[in-house]
Amino acid sequence: MESVALIMAAGRGERAGGECPKQFAMLGSRALVAHAVDALAAMPTYVVIAEGQRDALATALGDRQVAGVTIGGATRQDSVRRGLQAIAAGGGARNVFVHDAARPLLPAHVLAALSRALETNAGAVPVLPVADSVARAGDALGAPVDRTGLVRVQTPQAFDFAALLAAHASWSGDPATDDAQVARAAGMTVATVAGDPLLDKITHPDDFARAEAMLAARLVSRSASGFDVHRLEPGLPLWLGGVMVPHTHGLSGHSDADVALHALTDALLGTIGEGDIGSHFPPSDEQWRGAASHRFLEHARDLILARGGRIDHVDVTLICEAPKIGPYRDIMRSAIATLLRLPVRSVSVKATTSERLGFTGRGEGIAAQAIATVRLPEDF
Ligand code: MG
Repeated sequence: MESVALIMAAGRGERAGGECPKQFAMLGSRALVAHAVDALAAMPTYVVIAEGQRDALATALGDRQVAGVTIGGATRQDSVRRGLQAIAAGGGARNVFVHDAARPLLPAHVLAALSRALETNAGAVPVLPVADSVARAGDALGAPVDRTGLVRVQTPQAFDFAALLAAHASWSGDPATDDAQVARAAGMTVATVAGDPLLDKITHPDDFARAEAMLAARLVSRSASGFDVHRLEPGLPLWLGGVMVPHTHGLSGHSDADVALHALTDALLGTIGEGDIGSHFPPSDEQWRGAASHRFLEHARDLILARGGRIDHVDVTLICEAPKIGPYRDIMRSAIATLLRLPVRSVSVKATTSERLGFTGRGEGIAAQAIATVRLPEDF
């Protein structure tokens, strides 16, 4: 095996103040340890947890597969050693990337730099310069500490697997808090590569808010369109944009035939590549006969939210000669905004005629088109 990942998730995490150890706490739509596993998904991943945390890990990982789960020891170094032994028992590896679950946001450029550095070094660690002034606390407060040569050391730390395993076996000092320390003591050359503020460790409750903001800044924007048509027939209720509009005719279809909500549902499904309304709610399925179309829209909304996404904006255009949409525009915007849990300013409803041309011009049906813009994690 070329490279494997070893994720340390054995902490009790009391400092973060949550009800559960922080590696199992949610950041966005995923637990911290799940973020770390996803970031290292290119390699077989071993996870070290504390006694009694197997159920919490299983819940946090969902359907993600890991190569092995090991129970850690009394110190971080004990836990790393047990993890390395589990990798050896699983057949070993050429390189190992040792990472902390409490650093959920791992940029790809750091992994790439570590891999390059490992071609000519036995180890490599990401570091950042110390930007702030550093001083001793307590009585000596204010006594400056020379920060020349000081760096902040992050993870993942990458090593020649066999060399690191041997270095841990031969370590005789106090428990090490950092694998670079163990590697250097054993005579391994350890290079440094540029770290990233995204990798900062989550330690205190406030760190979750900081990480949430960083996560939001990393979301990618996607837009998709939807289109739908339904036939107008006399005597039916007319549902448009989640609102019942008084009219001589209504739209016919398997559900309530709200053409605006159908186009919008397809646009939302399009942003996540989840097919179309017909694949989720087949017209052949009796349970959707006469169904209120807000259920379809809410389903598409929930699929996006479950992927850690957020809906930024939707825009619907209705194409018909009658009824006049203007008097109902704002109530439709409100109805859609409520269904999507958006502010009204993020919902647009427009209408046009087709100059009496075609089926919409003859009043035989109503067409709707929609576009939705969402933000999603890169790896949703
Ligand atoms: Mg339809």
